[in-house]
Amino acid sequence: MASSTPKPFDYDSELPYPALHEKAKYVVLTDWDGTITDKDTNDYLTDNYGMGYEARRALNNKVLTGEVSYRDSFHQMLESVTLPYDECKRILRENIGLDPGFKEFYDFCRSKDIPVVLVSSGMTPIIRAVLSSVLPDDADSIEIIANEVKFSNPDDPASHWEIIYRHPHSHHGHDKSKAILPYRDLPGERVIFFCGDGVSDLSAAAHADVLFAKEMANGDSDLMRFCKREKIAHVPFNDFTDVTKRVKEVIEGKPYKEVLREAGNDV
Ligand SMILES: [Mg+2]
Repeated sequence: MASSTPKPFDYDSELPYPALHEKAKYVVLTDWDGTITDKDTNDYLTDNYGMGYEARRALNNKVLTGEVSYRDSFHQMLESVTLPYDECKRILRENIGLDPGFKEFYDFCRSKDIPVVLVSSGMTPIIRAVLSSVLPDDADSIEIIANEVKFSNPDDPASHWEIIYRHPHSHHGHDKSKAILPYRDLPGERVIFFCGDGVSDLSAAAHADVLFAKEMANGDSDLMRFCKREKIAHVPFNDFTDVTKRVKEVIEGKPYKEVLREAGNDV
C-alpha cells in the first residue's frame, strides 16, 4: 500500500520515462509493432533484408519456449539487417500501415482524456519515422517508451548502428512491466489496459487489468499462445475497432472483469 512518503519507483533504466498520468482513471499502454501497425517493422526488415522468415520464426519460437532471451533474439535479427539506418526508416515508412481501427481508437481516447502510451521493444526514432507517415498529426506528440539506437560514428548516419536497450540487464531488453507497475503504486483507482500481439509483450502480459491480445488474420498470436499456456486472462481482438468497443463499455460503467468474463476468462 502507498505510504505517506512512497519510495520513487525504480525503473532500472538509464533512458528517461514520461511522467505518469496520475489523475487518469483509465490508462492505455500499447505495443507498437504488429499491434498498432499492420506489420511488425522488425519482422519486415528481418524477413526481407536480414535472416529471412524461417530463421526469424525459429528464433521467435525459441523465445516462447525460453531457450533464447527476447533481448538476444532481437539483437541477432537486427544484426542480420545490414542496411543503413536511414534506409530502414525509408523502407518502413513506405511499407508499414496502421491497424484499420487505431486512428479512431486514438481519437476516441483523446476525446475522453484517456492517455495512450506506446510501449515498444523497437527503437523510438523508427517509430516516430513511421508515425510521421501513418499518423502525421500526432507523430511528434504521442508518448513513446521504447529502446534507442546508437551509431558507431554519431556524425555518420550511414555508419553501423545497433539497438540500445532500455533494460540491458533484463532478458526482455525492454521490460514492459516497468511501464505498468508504477501505476499500481499510485493512490486512487484506475483501470489499466494493455494491447499487444507477440513475444515482446510477455513482460507486460500479467500486469494490466485488461490485456487485449491481437490475433493475426491467420489466427496466429504469440501473445495469445503464451497467455493460454500461462493462464493469463486476456481479450482477443482482430483490430482496434474491437478495443474501442470494449474500452467504451468500461468507461460507460461495465466492470472490467465483466469484459474479461465475456471473453471466456474465469475471473
Ligand atoms: Mg508486437
